[in-house]
Amino acid sequence: MKIVVKILSLLVLLFAAFAAHAQNPVRCATKEKFKEALAKNPAIAAQREALEQFTQEQILRANSTTDTSIYTIPVIVHVVYHSFDAAAQNISDSQIQSQMDAINEDFARLNADTSTTPLAFQSVAVDTKIRFQLTNKDPNGNPSSGIERISTAKNNVGSDDSLYYIAPAWDRTCYYNVWVCNIDGGNTLGFSYLPGTVVADHDGTVVDYKAFGRIGNLFPSFNKGRTFTHEAGHFLNLLHTWGDSPSCIPDDDVSDTPLESDASTGCPTFPLTDVCTTSAPGVMFMNYMNYVDDNCMNLFTAGQRDRMRAALYLAPRDKLRDRSLCNVLSIQETKPKALRIYPNPVEKIVFITIPADFKVQQIAIYNILGQVVMQSINSTQNDNLLNLDISSLSPGMYFLRIVSNQQELQERFIKN
Ligand SMILES: [Zn+2]
Repeated sequence: MKIVVKILSLLVLLFAAFAAHAQNPVRCATKEKFKEALAKNPAIAAQREALEQFTQEQILRANSTTDTSIYTIPVIVHVVYHSFDAAAQNISDSQIQSQMDAINEDFARLNADTSTTPLAFQSVAVDTKIRFQLTNKDPNGNPSSGIERISTAKNNVGSDDSLYYIAPAWDRTCYYNVWVCNIDGGNTLGFSYLPGTVVADHDGTVVDYKAFGRIGNLFPSFNKGRTFTHEAGHFLNLLHTWGDSPSCIPDDDVSDTPLESDASTGCPTFPLTDVCTTSAPGVMFMNYMNYVDDNCMNLFTAGQRDRMRAALYLAPRDKLRDRSLCNVLSIQETKPKALRIYPNPVEKIVFITIPADFKVQQIAIYNILGQVVMQSINSTQNDNLLNLDISSLSPGMYFLRIVSNQQELQERFIKN
């Protein structure tokens, strides 16, 4: 009988531990990944010091009041899913798009919860003028949806370096590589490598599939896409607001985030003070680089903006800020309304308006794998209007590319 009671007690304890684990994954393993990288290559410490000096100099060089340009970073999302759990782990295009919407709202300070930023911090909460866009070209120049899906028989694929062999990084100088996978069974939400700390094929961000996006099967406390917002901050050289140190200094090397001794978790009541900031308004627990729940974080500061933008002036991140250097972002993005397709979605005949001075040389339609499915299509051109019969295509997403003697235009459409 006693044995039965002990076994039952053990089961209760195990269940409680499982429940606690299931509810409280570690928000971020970036610090641990940095320690691992440092152990493998001690020279990283000196590299980081040099990078920090450059960062401070670049912040002084850049004039944040006149530099209003927006940097749009090309993103490739590698969805790496366990073949026996594809229904859950192979997340939908819609879920990925919900994540892109979330991170862009957060970085633009267009998030719906800006009003919950305490008045004392409103003046430093800013639009970073950094955006993220799924790439529409692969490294060979072919059309891409910006999403790559790879099945693996390995479970917990993000827990070791096998992830990078299963889903190799695209050229990190032209793409921000983001892997979405089951990292370690729900213990960790995500991690990034700080600039200058890792080999090229590991560089980027890893996010658990249950913490990516705002729709789908997500951890209840981490369902607003802010794991990626937080990790993109690390990718662009932001540290945690407490500087990963229990002492008040070192802090995060950002002057407008108050000193802080440790992470804040859950959803604290404002104001929250600690040994480093002892009076109101207290620590900035609602900063994206803290550890609170998704629905309690809502701001980046001006100092963090300047630091992230400085990270985009130093290799290997410097080409990411200027699409013309790699040409991996949508052409229509830089030339809005140049090419218009309607109806979209389409069933049989698609109408395309093109610029008046555009002399068509080549027309091609690609599928999402980048394969040409129609080329030199029979079409009729009437001034700046083209009609194409695409009724032979299977339902799905396609890319139309039109080339003239001077310019190339591209647009995506859905065939019903
Ligand atoms: Zn972190």
